[in-house]
Amino acid sequence: MPGTKAATTLRSIAIRLSLSLLLAFLLTACQPDQLAKQQFLQFGTLIEVTLVTSGDDAARLFGDIERLLQIRHRQWHGWLDGDLKQFNEALTEKPGREVAVPASLRELIQDSHYYPRLSDGLFNPAIGRLVAAWGFHRQHPPDHEMIALISQDIPGMDDLILRGQHASTRHAQLQLDFGGIAKGLAVRQIAELLQRNHIRDFIINAGGDVFAAGRKGSRAWRVAIDNPFADGIAAGLELRAGESIFTSGNYRRFQTDDQQRRRHHIIDPRTGEPSTIISAATVIHPDPVRADVAATTLMITTPAGLRDMARALDIDQFLVITNDRQVFVSDTLQRRLSWRQPEDFSFQQL
Ligand code: ADP
Ligand code: MG
Repeated sequence: MPGTKAATTLRSIAIRLSLSLLLAFLLTACQPDQLAKQQFLQFGTLIEVTLVTSGDDAARLFGDIERLLQIRHRQWHGWLDGDLKQFNEALTEKPGREVAVPASLRELIQDSHYYPRLSDGLFNPAIGRLVAAWGFHRQHPPDHEMIALISQDIPGMDDLILRGQHASTRHAQLQLDFGGIAKGLAVRQIAELLQRNHIRDFIINAGGDVFAAGRKGSRAWRVAIDNPFADGIAAGLELRAGESIFTSGNYRRFQTDDQQRRRHHIIDPRTGEPSTIISAATVIHPDPVRADVAATTLMITTPAGLRDMARALDIDQFLVITNDRQVFVSDTLQRRLSWRQPEDFSFQQL
């Protein structure tokens, strides 16, 4: 009878459906989502990658990330032997001569042309020789003669002339230094590697600079913003899926000169000297490269110029803390922050 047949078919579909549901349940029960975490010491910092996975792919992915970082570290390093060092040397060996741009540097060089234009030259990756003369590479004391020489005529990215896949320089002191942008690109490339491998939920923490994808189980990923004046945190917040948060500061890598001035590693290309007003700048943006560049650039602005510079860099969420503990924070970011000890700071109108 047709009715009986239909009923039997329905029953068998129902049984099969519940069997596959049971199987799916058992599989998830056997392999619940787990946090897998690994640290990598690269780019002069500790990079920690945490992913949520129910599979056994974490070890393979961590191996891939390790290899990626080792390669990039060698290619992008400013003064250890590798693509960038060789490219820099070839450029200035004979100013004016065209040198092939290695494939590994093309994206960085392109971005390095773009951001100085947005920032009126404040973000300037052409000042590698000046950064080296300040001694930040090898923790040397500053070479004041060299600093004075370069400061008379500081090279800019316009002095690097690109023609197809070749470049030349008209400035004998031009050396590219990707210290203010390479970490952002490394973080972006790790994120792309994980996304290509269908990992949806992960967080990459490169010495306090973070990109977060998805969520940590049922919660959002939480991050903290350092207190520049003491050990511990100034504020905490939850990151939304696909956001990065980058901070630049004068409180981690610095020397104190004989006049007790803090000589840190972010140079104002207008003066040739470390910037002087701001202790820390934090930026949130979906693109880790833009966030990295913007955090470094905001370190060189003044409170009066902050808003315009953030706008020029297309940054909506930012926080700047001056040396005298004044806080300038965009409304969009302030709404999300929970301050640990707000009484330690003086909050200012932007
Ligand atoms: P960190 O490396 O501590 O995260 P940043 O992202 O702010 O800090 O990068 C600082 C590095 O950027 C310096 O060590 C130097 O290599 C480079 N740098 C310094 N001044 C400038 C500048 N005006 N523009 C671009 N890069 C800079
Ligand atoms: Mg930076």
